[in-house]
Amino acid sequence: KTAAGREYKVKDMSQADFGRLEIELAEGAKITGSLHMTIQTAVLIETLTALGAEVRWCSCNIFSTQDHAAAAIARDSAAVFAWKGETLQEYWWCTERALDWGPTGGPDLIVDDGGDATLLIHEGVKAEEVYEKTGQLPDPSSTDNAEFQIVLTIIRDGLKADPKKYTRMKERLVGVSEETTTGVKRLYQMQANGTLLFPAINVNDSVTKSKFDNLYGCRHSLPDGLMRATDVMIAGKVAVVCGYGDVGKGCAAALKQAGARVIVTEIDPICALQALMEGLQVLTLEDVVSEADIFVTTTGNKDIIMVNHMRKMKNNAIVCNIGHFDNEIDMLGLENYPGVKRITIKPQTDRWVFPETNTGIIVLAEGRLMNLGCATGHPSFVMSCSFTNQVIAQLELWKEKATGKYEKKVYVLPKHLDEKVAALHLGKLGANLTKLTKDQADYISVPIEGPYKPPHYRY
Ligand code: NAD
Ligand code: SAH
Repeated sequence: KTAAGREYKVKDMSQADFGRLEIELAEGAKITGSLHMTIQTAVLIETLTALGAEVRWCSCNIFSTQDHAAAAIARDSAAVFAWKGETLQEYWWCTERALDWGPTGGPDLIVDDGGDATLLIHEGVKAEEVYEKTGQLPDPSSTDNAEFQIVLTIIRDGLKADPKKYTRMKERLVGVSEETTTGVKRLYQMQANGTLLFPAINVNDSVTKSKFDNLYGCRHSLPDGLMRATDVMIAGKVAVVCGYGDVGKGCAAALKQAGARVIVTEIDPICALQALMEGLQVLTLEDVVSEADIFVTTTGNKDIIMVNHMRKMKNNAIVCNIGHFDNEIDMLGLENYPGVKRITIKPQTDRWVFPETNTGIIVLAEGRLMNLGCATGHPSFVMSCSFTNQVIAQLELWKEKATGKYEKKVYVLPKHLDEKVAALHLGKLGANLTKLTKDQADYISVPIEGPYKPPHYRY
C-alpha cells in the first residue's frame, strides 16, 4: 500500500517521480526553442519530446546549426527551422516560424538563448498595442540597426493580417527559460522597466551552467574553433582576451595551456586582479594591438575591437568573438573601410586586407560566435549540465503554471536543484562523493542532504 493507503502492484515504485514528470509534460506543453541547433541541442529536444512536449525549434545564431542534427530532428522528433549559413532575413523568418503554432496561439513555453524569441514577442506586442490605438504600423526606417529593421519588417508585414498574434501569444505563454548571460541581462532590464510580459527562469546563473558551460565549455571550444578555422600554432603566440568573466577565464586558460602568452583587458578591477593572480598581464587593447597574434572578445559588450585597432594589427593576426553579437568586433567599420578587400579563405574564415599597408587580418565567423561558427560549440558533457538545468526549468514553469508561483519576474533555480544537476554528472566521471556525518553536518550547520552552501557563496 502507498502512504495514502492506496493498494498497488507495480514493477518499480522508485519510478513514480519520473512518471509524474512525464505525465505533467504529456498534458501537452508546446515548446518553442531558439537555441543553437546542434547535436547537443538535439538531445535536449528529444528529452523534451520524451517527456511529452511538442516542439518547434530554430537556431539562435545564423552560423551555429549543424545541418545533420537539424535534419535528424526534423525527420524524427520536432518541427525545425534552421540551417548553417542563414541570412539575417532567413534567421528571423525561422524564429517567426518556430513561434507560429497556428491560429490557436503560440507556445506554452520558450527555451531561449540570447533572448531573440522573447524579443520578437515583446516587440510584436508593443507594435500591436500601438496599432490598436493609432492604426500606425511599425516603421523599419525608424532605426539604423540593420537587424532591428528586419525584426520590425517581419512584425509590420504580419500585423494587418493578424493584429493580435503576439498579444495572444503572450497571454498563453507560461514562461521562458534563458540560457545565456546576455539573454539574462535583457530579461533583468525588462523586469526593471516593468515591461517583462511573462515569467522567466535564468538558467545561466545556475552554478552548474555558468561556472561550467561558460568556463570549461569555452576552454574546450575556443581552441577547437581557432584550429579548425586556421590551424594556427597557439604556442609561442601573444593572445589577447578581452573580458575576464566566466567565458574569458575559460578562453585565457585554454590559450595559456596551449603555450600562448596571454594578455587580458578588463574594465572590472576584481576580474583584472583575478587575471593577475593567474599570472596573466592586464593591459588595454591599445597597449598591445600591434604586438599580439590572436584577439578574442568575450565581453558581451559592444565596440571592443574597432577598425582602427584592426588596421594596426600584425599581418594575419586572428580576430574573433566568443561572447555575444558581432558588434563586439566593429564589423560594420571593417566592411565600410575604404578600399578594404575581403578574401574568403573558406566559409567563416575571411582575410581582410587594408589598402595602405597591404597587410591583412583574419576574422572568424564574420565576428559572430567563433566556437559555434567555426567548430561545433561546447561538447556534450558540459551541455548536459546546462540542459539539465533547462529541462528542470521547463518542468518547473509547467508544473506551476496554474499556481501563480512565478510572476512576471526573473527567477533562478533553487540551490538544491543546482546541486542535483552536479550530483547527476559525478558518476560518469568516476567521482566518489564524501558523505557528511550527522555530527559534521550539525557542526557546519547544513542539512546532511544539502544544500551545502548559502546563496551568497560564490564558488
Ligand atoms: P561575464 O559578465 O562573466 O564576463 C564578461 C566580462 O567582460 C566582465 O568581467 C566585464 O567586466 C568584461 N567587460 C565588459 N566590457 C568590457 C570592455 N569594454 N573591455 C574589457 N572587458 C569588458 O559574462 P560571461 O558569462 O563570461 O559571458 C560573456 C559573453 O559570452 C556573454 O555575451 C554570453 O552570453 C556569452 N557566452 C558565450 C558562450 C559561447 O559558447 N560562445 C558561452 C557562454 C556565454
Ligand atoms: N544569440 C547568441 C547566443 C549566445 S550563445 C548568439 O549566438 O549570438 C552562448 C550559448 O551557446 C552559451 O550559453 C552555451 O550554453 C551555448 N552553447 C555552446 N555550445 C553549444 C552547443 N554545442 N550546443 C548548443 N548550445 C551551445
